[in-house]
Amino acid sequence: MSAVSAYGAAEWIARGSELHCSYCGSCHPKEVFKAIEAGKSITPTDKSFKIYFDGMRKFYFQHFSVEEKKRFIALYNDKAILLNYPGHFYVIPFFMTRAVV
Ligand SMILES: [Zn+2]
Repeated sequence: MSAVSAYGAAEWIARGSELHCSYCGSCHPKEVFKAIEAGKSITPTDKSFKIYFDGMRKFYFQHFSVEEKKRFIALYNDKAILLNYPGHFYVIPFFMTRAVV
């Protein structure tokens, strides 16, 4: 069952009904999208590689595939992501750039 990720020797291990990274403890990307679609909020952090979602569940962006990064950006641009205080990424995720307005 343990699919080795593209990230070193890390594996996805089941903890309860969910998968977590054996290296950093991050939740699986699919959980992030599931939470966004369920209207759960995301909490920005001062790290470009980390968010909390649905409370204190943590996610490290390095686990996003290229496709998942694009999907996340599209959801963000569609304002489909509910962001907790301060309502925007004060430190933007490393794979995103600010739109020039
Ligand atoms: Zn990890």
